Amino acid sequence: MKNNCVFCAIAAGEIPSFKVYEDDVVLAYLDINPFTKGHILVIPKEHTEGLLDTPDATLAAVIARVKKVAAHVKEALPCDGFNILQNNGEAAGQTVKHVHFHIVPRYGMEPIAFENHKGDMEALKALAERIHL
Ligand code: 5GP
Ligand code: ZN
Repeated sequence: MKNNCVFCAIAAGEIPSFKVYEDDVVLAYLDINPFTKGHILVIPKEHTEGLLDTPDATLAAVIARVKKVAAHVKEALPCDGFNILQNNGEAAGQTVKHVHFHIVPRYGMEPIAFENHKGDMEALKALAERIHL
């Protein structure tokens, strides 16, 4: 596996994912263990570990895609708001060392704990097909 990295393997199509958006720079797909319904990860296809080692030009391109995907899913789900989360280092809860932005949809005023919940694969598949850009 390239860079011994699960997200590089997803970007290369070696590991399947529930894709929501893809272009030459990024891939966006559903988190398999979502915090909330429609939880999406946006990754640059090029491997870097976190915010600090990612070139500014890549970050600029990625955040533009985060905005595009978030704007779409807010309408398509729909949700009432969303959090953008980007963890750096184990101490910050980063478990996959390939830089990624979480889009976490929020519904009404429902509080959440920012915890993973085991995903239902059939439901994730159907959702990805529904909200794909
Ligand atoms: P972190 O805690 O590193 O910011 O977030 C990593 C996220 O990646 C977690 O929410 C976890 O559920 C998700 N994740 C880990 N492995 C996979 C995978 O193989 N496929 C998908 N779609 N998500 C993954
Ligand atoms: Zn990687």
